[in-house]
Amino acid sequence: MELDGRVAIVTGAASGIGAALTHELVRRSARVVVADLDADATERATAALPAGTAVAAAGDTSDPAVIAAQIAVATEAFGPVDLYFANAGIGVGSGLGTAADWTRSIDVNLLAHVRAAQALIPGWVERGGGYFVSTASAAGLLSQIGSATYSTTKHAVVGFAEWLSITYGDAGVGVSCVCPMGVDTALLRPARPVDDQEALMLRTVESAGPVHTPESVAATVLDAVEQDRFLVLPHPEVLEMYRGKGADYGR
Ligand code: NAD
Repeated sequence: MELDGRVAIVTGAASGIGAALTHELVRRSARVVVADLDADATERATAALPAGTAVAAAGDTSDPAVIAAQIAVATEAFGPVDLYFANAGIGVGSGLGTAADWTRSIDVNLLAHVRAAQALIPGWVERGGGYFVSTASAAGLLSQIGSATYSTTKHAVVGFAEWLSITYGDAGVGVSCVCPMGVDTALLRPARPVDDQEALMLRTVESAGPVHTPESVAATVLDAVEQDRFLVLPHPEVLEMYRGKGADYGR
């Protein structure tokens, strides 16, 4: 999809990969809705973009009412939504996780993507175009990275994106699934002390290759959207690990 003049919603847009995506989208002449849980950070991230290119719409994007409100904000400011970047994600809990860890992880990491797709894709099928981008993770391909909640929900995101692509590709709906690893964002630098399993995960990521910048990942993602590529592996080392699935990385 050509990005010039397109209207995009980016979730998790106040920080890290999401913030970089908004800057790269605007650089490629798209208009963006900056959607994030953190209201103050959403306002700051929006103000950092050139005037007239972005609007803020804070809220929890696992809430269907918030998704509907963000679509309404986009439509009113810029016109119908062309692209949705389901990028917000969390890593909570370690080991097997608690019931609350699972509920929150499934809501934010998976159901937020499903609810946004339900809100947008029927309209895109009717008008014959639209593009859905899910940020999964290398942990969605490789089970040796991350906690049970993170790895399992990211595997589900890969499966959901694949299902969308197979089901709606012929109707003109593009889908990309992004599987990064080792991107220098807040997610890689937990402010709290890490337990043994999280420390192993961080060592695994470090040992697999260089840490990448949100900006380089955002550029790779938007190249993939422009070229309509499904699986986006921003780092060659992820592809190598994926090919050698089951290898004893980081131990
Ligand atoms: P980040 O922590 O810098 O940014 C995540 C943003 O999402 C934050 O601004 C946070 O406020 C927001 N957010 C969290 N829950 C939300 C919700 N319910 N509704 C709206 N916004 C919410 O992290 P990041 O590294 O930029 O992560 C972006 C995506 O990339 C995530 O899905 C993450 O799992 C994925 N990812 C990151 C890495 C990495 O190495 N950093 C690797 C693989 C995948």
